[in-house]
Amino acid sequence: MSKHLSLALCLSLLASACADPSVDEDPIDEPALTTDELAALPAGADDPEHALDHLREGAAVDDGATFDDDEPLPFVDVEVVDDGAPRFAALLASGLHPRASDALRAAGVAAWRITQTIGDAPASAGYHAADGTVNGRAYCAATDLSVRGLTATQIHNLLERLARAGFAAWYRKDGVDGWRGADHLHVVYANAKMKSQLRAQVRSFLVGRNGLVSNTLYRWHDFSDAAVRAVKAKFAASASGTSNGGAGVPARINTAGAPLTVRAGASASTAAVGAVADGAYVVIRCQKRGQTVSGTYGSSSLWDKLDGGYVADAYVATGSDGQVAPTCP
Ligand SMILES: [Zn+2]
Repeated sequence: MSKHLSLALCLSLLASACADPSVDEDPIDEPALTTDELAALPAGADDPEHALDHLREGAAVDDGATFDDDEPLPFVDVEVVDDGAPRFAALLASGLHPRASDALRAAGVAAWRITQTIGDAPASAGYHAADGTVNGRAYCAATDLSVRGLTATQIHNLLERLARAGFAAWYRKDGVDGWRGADHLHVVYANAKMKSQLRAQVRSFLVGRNGLVSNTLYRWHDFSDAAVRAVKAKFAASASGTSNGGAGVPARINTAGAPLTVRAGASASTAAVGAVADGAYVVIRCQKRGQTVSGTYGSSSLWDKLDGGYVADAYVATGSDGQVAPTCP
């Protein structure tokens, strides 16, 4: 069966042939992929970008214990400005977006596990082709990682950590979830400008699917809603993968229970215009000083502008007590 025929069957028989009604396939209210997005996904078989000789590993280090839990380090994206000024740690590997490099560190990934950034497979579909440049250095939003030395549990933990740091991530295991080929992790950093094929892969991840042309439900790992929402927030910050700039800083609401009121201005005396749930991932567009508020993170006069209004920064996990986004006009 050609991949086009199988895709057409999937589309015409979506509910019965390609989905399992017992699985919640839409945990975060994402719409199904469009026809164009489905067409942009890669075939799972005979993929020259993910043949063994393109997934070269460095010297292995026994770091399995790093992945005995699924908690990444707290991590907040730094704005990318193409002015050459140092804002990021040295890249873990050349060909990484600097934010992706920092996020891999937050997830506990060592350089030797990175087997491919910008790919060199000839005449391939180009998923690992360069996506752009940051400060004159080319990057690809997709990265391949080795799973050498990891137990299945440790791979589950690594996938969860990667998603919480902003990666759409899949374990490509031979014979599982539509994949045929070398075992590895294929991950796409959501907060970077990327090619349309990778944007389609991130969208496939957000609806719980495998990111391949079959676009079936991804079953090997069940990502937590928090992990999926983290990727969604990063993807939103990059304007769905079309922007590299400072469109916003992902953060998370922490009130220890109650919803947080969204205000028209940087003070609790301004009108309430909405609310965000405790634990929600949000994107901070800018920040400014206003009324001092005591919250989960102490006292602060900083207010965070979200799409729609302001929330008190004292209730928002940004990784910093200071300002992390541009000053609001
Ligand atoms: Zn890959």
